[in-house]
Amino acid sequence: MTVKIKERKEKERKVPIEVFPDPKTAVILTLQHSGAKNTPLVSVGDKVSIGQKIGNSDKKVNAPIHSPISGEVKQISNANSLCYEDVCTLPADFGEAIIIENDGKKRKDKSLVSISESELESISNDILIGRIREAGIIGMGGAGFPTHIKLSPPSAYPIKFLVVNACESEVFDTSDERLLIEKTTNILKGVKVMRKILGSPEVIIAVKENKFEAVERVKEVFSGEQIRIEARSFSYAQGDASLLQKALFGWEVPAGKRSYTMGVVVHNVATINAVANAIFKGEPLISRVTTFTGDIDEPKNLLVKIGTPIGSIFDHYKINQGDIRKVVSGGAMMGNTITSLGAPVTKKTSSIIVYYKSNYKLGKKKTACIRCSKCISACPLNLHPVLIYEALEKEDLKSAKRLNSEDCFGCRICSYVCPSGIPLAHTILSGNL
Ligand code: SF4
Ligand code: SF4
Repeated sequence: MTVKIKERKEKERKVPIEVFPDPKTAVILTLQHSGAKNTPLVSVGDKVSIGQKIGNSDKKVNAPIHSPISGEVKQISNANSLCYEDVCTLPADFGEAIIIENDGKKRKDKSLVSISESELESISNDILIGRIREAGIIGMGGAGFPTHIKLSPPSAYPIKFLVVNACESEVFDTSDERLLIEKTTNILKGVKVMRKILGSPEVIIAVKENKFEAVERVKEVFSGEQIRIEARSFSYAQGDASLLQKALFGWEVPAGKRSYTMGVVVHNVATINAVANAIFKGEPLISRVTTFTGDIDEPKNLLVKIGTPIGSIFDHYKINQGDIRKVVSGGAMMGNTITSLGAPVTKKTSSIIVYYKSNYKLGKKKTACIRCSKCISACPLNLHPVLIYEALEKEDLKSAKRLNSEDCFGCRICSYVCPSGIPLAHTILSGNL
């Protein structure tokens, strides 16, 4: 059963990207990606410049962090107290927060070298991959896996397809859609960088057909580039990289395997845009587009500096904070509820969704399982959420594993359809930690 998650983005998708002012104080988390935590490279009292690397790790699976503003480091402290909890209140680790006060001088760090488009073919892949790593680029669609790792598959697995994931299936998010409309040429440049690195695979752009303006723009700019455009009615779950492959190619990525074993690499549109910025403009990942929406009257697509406290966005637009029930960062289905408006925008903040008390409907009250099997027929991975849940409730991890609990990618469709309000996704994801 394919569950339709109703999108709510008619207003949002029409709003052009607006540049949000630099924050007075930036809060940069040392762990914004999947992988090893960064160690701060700065100390309290240090002066920093825009784009200066301020955190790094010698571990392979890592992406460094950079200062989005010029100013002085005021504090370095544990981030977890001020930031997020998962929608399902999972324990999470965000490392440390490096707090920088803006001096307004807009001093720029120029460590990251840029090239012109005509130089691309003559630059080695190792240099390109090294610059993508140095720029701190990660999967900006939500997974947060460092991009330079995804661009370095083992040589035993030649890459046949580079899939540009422009499905953006979260309920409210339109940040990728606006990038496709407004930064199409830049995205094409990023595709060319990735195509070179991956050995000239076929490029496919997967985009939802209801993004009319974006589809037209992509057709216009990408025509003649030997790039296949797949504009289809992808479902919510097909925004996931492995389910997207099933939709495009008909195959399933085996459990525990990565996409490259099937000869496929999937990258999100915002990530590709960031790659173009790094290679051709020498810009590390210090800003991103986020959709600011929900119950507020005028939704926005904001180009905002990473590290901007979410509360400062409310202040800037004079939004009433008294009626706030909760604020979710990074998608209504798979995002995180922030526990304080001091929590910052991160590399993964695709959207900021505001829910007002006056509009808020309480979730279903938890009752006993009625054996309806809706969760089973709805799970896009054909898992048995109810059985995994029951195993985990008995702390029977072996049985949960046998039921492939570790394949769960947290789409939360099972919890969404359950008439008994059972926290299936929360329990399964907690069990996988
Ligand atoms: S959250 Fe996990 S178990 Fe539930 S529907 Fe999604 S993939 Fe299946
Ligand atoms: S959807 Fe809920 S009530 Fe139905 S079988 Fe699954 S857990 Fe039980």
